[in-house]
Amino acid sequence: MKIDVIHKKKSDINKVDFSNIKFGQFHSDHMFEAEFSEGAWKNFKIIPFDDITVSPACTTLHYGQTIFEGLKAYKNKKNKISVFRMDKNAKRFNISAERMCMPTFPEKYFTQAISELLIIDKKWIPNTKNTSLYIRPLMIALDPFIGIKPAENFKFYIFTCPAGNYYSEPVKVKIETEFTRAIKGGVGYSKTAANYAAALYPSFLAQKENYDQLIWTDGKTHDYVEESGTMNLFFVINNTLLTAPLGDTVLDGVTRNSILALAEDLNIATEVRKISVNEIISSIKDNKLQEAFGAGTAATIAPIKTIGYQNKDYELPDHTSSSLSSKFLNLLDGIKYGSIDDNHNWITKL
Ligand SMILES: *Cc1c(COP(=O)(O)O)cnc(C)c1O
Repeated sequence: MKIDVIHKKKSDINKVDFSNIKFGQFHSDHMFEAEFSEGAWKNFKIIPFDDITVSPACTTLHYGQTIFEGLKAYKNKKNKISVFRMDKNAKRFNISAERMCMPTFPEKYFTQAISELLIIDKKWIPNTKNTSLYIRPLMIALDPFIGIKPAENFKFYIFTCPAGNYYSEPVKVKIETEFTRAIKGGVGYSKTAANYAAALYPSFLAQKENYDQLIWTDGKTHDYVEESGTMNLFFVINNTLLTAPLGDTVLDGVTRNSILALAEDLNIATEVRKISVNEIISSIKDNKLQEAFGAGTAATIAPIKTIGYQNKDYELPDHTSSSLSSKFLNLLDGIKYGSIDDNHNWITKL
């Protein structure tokens, strides 16, 4: 793939206060763009980040035929760029694409486009503790036709945003038993707009009750915990690490997958199985629930301090430096920032 480059005349970097970066507030100078028409990807370019124009009739706006990804690049002390497991995101993007009747984007183009974009916007990757450059690939359907059918014309973009900490403190979550995020046969495993739009209202209601996030339960019985909507979930009960199995309703998180691999390295007892709400609540009551945390690229690892269920809040033990969540966070950070050996070959250095 040959990428044409048009450089931005004047960088916006001086507008950013790098000592206080909010998640997703600023975009770096450039974006990647590719076009799909007549059955092929073409016109690969890196251009200044800017607004785009689409027809008001386009398929994405009406019917949500659109998918995205989220991954991060880091800068180590020697100013070298590392990207975490972008091959996994390339694969998942194409799994989402297939479900949404969108064209796949070749994995090696996906990683090449990210690499070239990062090199051009290298100065946008912050290098202080807990900071990174969040990378957002996005595909949209452009056919200016309001009949419901899969589009034939698409654009693929990648843009990036400097990112600080997502949650600065342990989070308070509510087990949702009224609304449903995903259902068997649906699109829950795909990073597609519908999942996030549908979650806004229940999340908004929970925020009014002072919760940071929801724990989604299965759509049929609401008896089993699934994930958190931007994070997969882990629990530690009887020194065993538990997480829900993948399937139609749970997104295959790269952070989740990495934690499971690290747990195996560390010989930590792990069970990937259905986890009932009952088991969570009764183990909190019996003081058997040692930890709960969310895992995702944006938040990395988010320790949970409170779980709300049926109008009651349950407090979890404090997280300490010997918690598994701290152990995983330190290992992941060490690998990403280059202070721990990358035995799994997760890092691409640029
Ligand atoms: C992106 C996402 C996650 C986390 O996946 P990572 O690859 O670890 O960032 C979890 N759940 C949902 C619904 C997501 O969209």
